[in-house]
Amino acid sequence: MTYVIAASCVDVKDRACLIECPVDCIYEGNRTLYINPDECVDCRACEPVCPVEAIFHEDDVPERWAGYAAVNAEYFRTSPGQDGQPVLRDGDHRLVAGLPPQSSGKKDIARFGIRKEEAADADLWFPFF
Ligand code: SF4
Ligand code: SF4
Repeated sequence: MTYVIAASCVDVKDRACLIECPVDCIYEGNRTLYINPDECVDCRACEPVCPVEAIFHEDDVPERWAGYAAVNAEYFRTSPGQDGQPVLRDGDHRLVAGLPPQSSGKKDIARFGIRKEEAADADLWFPFF
């Protein structure tokens, strides 16, 4: 089992989870962070510190962000993804790299720690899947 970082982290990336993780299994891309499912020990230390509530247990990822379980896992692979396109290890997963810039409103959400529902609303402007 593992935790997953979903869309709300993109272009926010304040690194609070990275500091909290006891096994250093959270890695930094250019626009978001990724949890290595092979290293995560399922301790939940990261989940409550995220200011935009981007972190979910893999069984609890909201339906519209379900693809982020694969995004996190694929980031640590060097072989092609399911559609045959290469998965980046440096920089970002190709699907995250292809997202338009996330709104400055999301950064304000992170700064003031506003609720998850409002962060989710910001993502409706930039749907991922
Ligand atoms: S659940 Fe624990 S081990 Fe897994 S990423 Fe979060 S802090 Fe790290
Ligand atoms: S705490 Fe949340 S917003 Fe900050 S880097 Fe981690 S997942 Fe991203």
